[in-house]
Amino acid sequence: MFNSRFHTIFVWSKGRPLSDEQLLAQLKVRFWAKVNMAPGQGPNGDCWEWQGARHSRSGYGEISCRLPGDYPRPHRAHRIAYMLTHGHLPRNFACHTCDNPPCVRPDHLWDGSVRENAKDMVSKGRHQQPQNRGRFVPKLTPDVVLQIRALFDEGRQSHAHIADMFGVTPQNVRVIGKRRTWKHLPEQHVSHDVKNT
Ligand SMILES: [Zn+2]
Repeated sequence: MFNSRFHTIFVWSKGRPLSDEQLLAQLKVRFWAKVNMAPGQGPNGDCWEWQGARHSRSGYGEISCRLPGDYPRPHRAHRIAYMLTHGHLPRNFACHTCDNPPCVRPDHLWDGSVRENAKDMVSKGRHQQPQNRGRFVPKLTPDVVLQIRALFDEGRQSHAHIADMFGVTPQNVRVIGKRRTWKHLPEQHVSHDVKNT
């Protein structure tokens, strides 16, 4: 045991490749050191926000790191948080239940299924932009938020049904409907034209 640990340190000092386990252990320490877990962050005050670099447009945290079997490259911080928690990257997008892009709290993240994301992409016309693959694409647009608000206010459809329509979670629908997120977005009448786009 001692010998193998000693050998490991020796190998590190030579700059040889780390084992997957070592790589992830290092990344874990480096990652969580950049996360602010203090209360009062995010729409419900319970988010853990990324303190490192953020994507200027999307607000998602960014971290440059190497994952097992890959080269070093930039990753979205919330995806890495998901991976460090579950042992694998999400199959597709890691989605936020809190709609707070810099949040990396593992229990605020869920693996958007391929089906839901495909639906989401088609509904936003993103399938026409294959160059966006692997890069950030906004999940919710102001138009979509206004539509969710309108349906929420109407109260005729279940939150689960509204969530299904837009490829978000019922919790997303509730926080949007109660105006806990997207507070900066003014209340507007949603015309049928907007609804049908
Ligand atoms: Zn959060």
